[in-house]
Amino acid sequence: MKMVRTKVSETGERLLRDIPVLKALREHDRTGIDEVLRIADACAEFNRRHAEPRALEIDERVERDPDYFDWDTARAACKYRLFSLVVPTLLGGLAGKYMLTAGALAFDELCTACAGIGNMIAATALGASPMLTPGGMPHWDTVLHEIVEEERKSNPVLMAYAITEPSAGTDVEEPHFLSTARLGMEAKKIKGGYLLNGRKCFISGGKEAKYLTVCAATDRTRPLETWTTFLVHRDMEGFSVPRVERKLGQRACHAAEVLFENVFVPESNVMGYEGDGMSTGILTIMAASRGPVGAVGTGIARGTCRHFTAWARERRNGKRPIDEPRIQMFIADMMATIQESRGLVINHSLAGDAVFGALLMNPMMKAIFLLPREVRISRPYQAFLQTRYGKSMAARLLRMLVSEEDMTRLLGLGCLAKFTCADNAMALTSRALEIMGMDDSEERRWVEKNYRDVKVTQIYEGTNQLNRLTFFNIDIGGSLRVELPHPR
Ligand SMILES: Cc1cc2nc3c(=O)[nH]c(=O)nc-3n(C[C@H](O)[C@H](O)[C@H](O)COP(=O)(O)OP(=O)(O)OC[C@H]3O[C@@H](n4cnc5c(N)ncnc54)[C@H](O)[C@@H]3O)c2cc1C
Repeated sequence: MKMVRTKVSETGERLLRDIPVLKALREHDRTGIDEVLRIADACAEFNRRHAEPRALEIDERVERDPDYFDWDTARAACKYRLFSLVVPTLLGGLAGKYMLTAGALAFDELCTACAGIGNMIAATALGASPMLTPGGMPHWDTVLHEIVEEERKSNPVLMAYAITEPSAGTDVEEPHFLSTARLGMEAKKIKGGYLLNGRKCFISGGKEAKYLTVCAATDRTRPLETWTTFLVHRDMEGFSVPRVERKLGQRACHAAEVLFENVFVPESNVMGYEGDGMSTGILTIMAASRGPVGAVGTGIARGTCRHFTAWARERRNGKRPIDEPRIQMFIADMMATIQESRGLVINHSLAGDAVFGALLMNPMMKAIFLLPREVRISRPYQAFLQTRYGKSMAARLLRMLVSEEDMTRLLGLGCLAKFTCADNAMALTSRALEIMGMDDSEERRWVEKNYRDVKVTQIYEGTNQLNRLTFFNIDIGGSLRVELPHPR
């Protein structure tokens, strides 16, 4: 039989060369891996046409005017379908069999140009993630569908994920700490829904998000048992964004404080069961998203390496730094660090594809989407998904297709990738900047921006200290395990 050879772009060729496991996988599944390469190539083109020409300018503009948000860049990202990265292919999005690998390589590529722009896109992916668990299924045909449809019209529908509170940051990222956290926010049960009161802070993309997935305790004296995920629309009465932070780096994406004053959220906007917000909520989301944060660090490191090498090739006082052995050794060290980071990210993302990709591509899941959309958005079907029976079916489906062991292992791999890649990128960028000194070249400006951009990768999605502890508790201590929801 004659094999049809599809043409691979320059970005794709580079990825196949740099990540041999992709090449090996492509021998078995050309269509699947070519789609991963196509997505990475779209990110590279977005960088060339939009991010690279604008990144330094946007960074400076936000420093002068912290409220500024570059909607033009967000609109441009629509053409490359970057807001559909986590929307299942079943709904016309890009998330298929290799959704985590494609996502990781996309964020790696995007962050070689600008981690702020990368984070603006990642914030939507993170905000949409709670909807990807079966507990979020009632919102697939509404919110996720809207993201895809509006993206086609170059109208970005942005999302954010809000868990951090002024009095609880690390505490809300780990079950042991949540049980003793002093929370300010509460969701009080009332007839037909919940009243949300309180504040969330440092929310990436929180100012521009149309929808936010928000975690809150329904009883602040029992936070772990009552931690719940809600879907909030920015137009709900009582919701506001009082301010954004003045940021050191990743300025193209705001970190906002969001305020809830008697915001009524209907019962239908609870993701899964009340009280399941930690294990099926945050831990499951973090199991998927900490590896991609490692990819953000890796992208920044690759960007720094590229700019440093270009700088080193320039002649200064008759000499080129790249001709000096100490510079050659430093570049070799950077390449080694990048390889190590990428290896950890790919390990995590392939393990994640075996969990989330398999879940989305499962025939049972596909069968649901054989139902015409009119049926799926009909009142009776939507109402069924919200019933006890509907929720219990979703929980059963998850338990049938995914094991708690795999989810726990995935969280451990994500933590490992997250803290290693962030620390690697921080150390590498810091050293590059030291060597470049006070040079006033454009290349040094990029590396200086990367130095500011990289710091937060050690902080968000759980600080690196917390990620080390979580990894230890999973892999060595054996005291942390991700629990999937129990059908009720
Ligand atoms: C730019 C930016 C964007 C962000 N985006 C989001 C977002 O989109 N959504 C969201 O919900 N949150 C977001 N965050 C919040 C982020 O996740 C928190 O800042 C982080 O979890 C740390 O919480 P904290 O700042 O309250 O620090 P703290 O929890 O007060 O920690 C302070 C220090 O103490 C250490 N520490 C705390 N407890 C322990 C412990 N038990 N053992 C060992 N060390 C400990 C920490 O590692 C840290 O070094 C963002 C933060 C920033 C800066």
